[in-house]
Amino acid sequence: SSSIFAAVEMAPRDPILGLNEAFNGDARDTKVNLGVGVYFDDNGKIPLLAAVKAAEETRLKAAPPRGYQPIEGPAAYNTAVQNLLFGKDSDLLAAGRVITAQAIGGTGALKIGADYLKRLNPEAKVYISNPSWENHRALFEAAGFIVEDYAYYDAGTRGVNFAGMKADLNKMAPGSVVLLHACCHNPTGADMSDAQWAEVVGICQERGLVPFLDMAYQGFADGIDADAVAIRAFSASGLQFFASSSFSKNFSLYGERVGALSVVTASKEESARVLSQVKRVIRTNYSNPPIHGGALVAAVLASGELRAQWETELAGMRDRIRAMRAGLVDAIKATGCAQDFSFVAQQRGMFSYTGLTAAQVERMKEEFGIYAVSTGRICLAALNTKNLDYVAKAIAAVTK
Ligand code: PLP
Repeated sequence: SSSIFAAVEMAPRDPILGLNEAFNGDARDTKVNLGVGVYFDDNGKIPLLAAVKAAEETRLKAAPPRGYQPIEGPAAYNTAVQNLLFGKDSDLLAAGRVITAQAIGGTGALKIGADYLKRLNPEAKVYISNPSWENHRALFEAAGFIVEDYAYYDAGTRGVNFAGMKADLNKMAPGSVVLLHACCHNPTGADMSDAQWAEVVGICQERGLVPFLDMAYQGFADGIDADAVAIRAFSASGLQFFASSSFSKNFSLYGERVGALSVVTASKEESARVLSQVKRVIRTNYSNPPIHGGALVAAVLASGELRAQWETELAGMRDRIRAMRAGLVDAIKATGCAQDFSFVAQQRGMFSYTGLTAAQVERMKEEFGIYAVSTGRICLAALNTKNLDYVAKAIAAVTK
């Protein structure tokens, strides 16, 4: 008798996980993994933030019971999320026009939003930037949508192809869902200016598009409020929109899976109906969210002292990434490399599209034990004062 799994095919390997396996198997002690999507400190370690540690110690001492949470998560957590995204003095929040549900990381928030959108408008198409975080397409396709892309990155200027993007937005059918990176675009590091965001808001309004803002790196570019510029611009527009957010990066809580889905509606009364539907999606997926990570975030954000400490630590991560960007530009220049890499210092967030070709990335691996994604994306937060010059020399060598 044959197994019910006899005909199952092996799914394609995740390219980043494959990279990590190859890196772990590399015996060279000078090896560097620039393929990761996490923030490392100058010692190459994932930090446990002091504010998080303090909140955790208090929580462990209190030893609270572990009952079920509300389907949408606790109000204290959801309000804290809303204040970060929309600003605590937001008119929308005062009017009850935002609903928020705790989610299993930013990915979980996207999935709840996608599943709900599929119920709301099953015929809609979803548009993602070209290129985008590699899970966006798969996630919306898994929710049953046809996913297409809109022009975004301009390899020539290493910035945003804004004319191309606008042209594509202007071709979308009303009701189309447009997935936008709220800040620190992954994988390119190329963000829109405030003026460009205002234009995108206008087009979404004119064409009746449904914006879905993915905010995975709030605080990693310019600061908590500065990085919320897109959310604030859409908030001022009167449009309804979706926002997924994540504390994986800015609280360094990757494995705790802490995020949220927020939906902006037209009225308080509408919010109640929408929340009831979002809760239905959550209930049939995993019932209600886990406690621990969300409780730590809520505790930090509710305490004046811990919040100030968190903001300082977040600024420290942001400043270190910026220092590595500037440092890499200078160190490449110092090798006498003919190619100009100054654009790396202009890009924002954790990543840069370096323009390195797949062949050059391969040489970095073979000759130097430096691992990167074949698209040429590198994680600046994997650089540190010890490996910076080595990486700069390798980039100069392979681009000669
Ligand atoms: N969205 C973008 C653009 C990301 O880069 C990431 C993580 O890399 C996520 C969402 C998912 O975040 P989380 O790990 O919180 O699920």
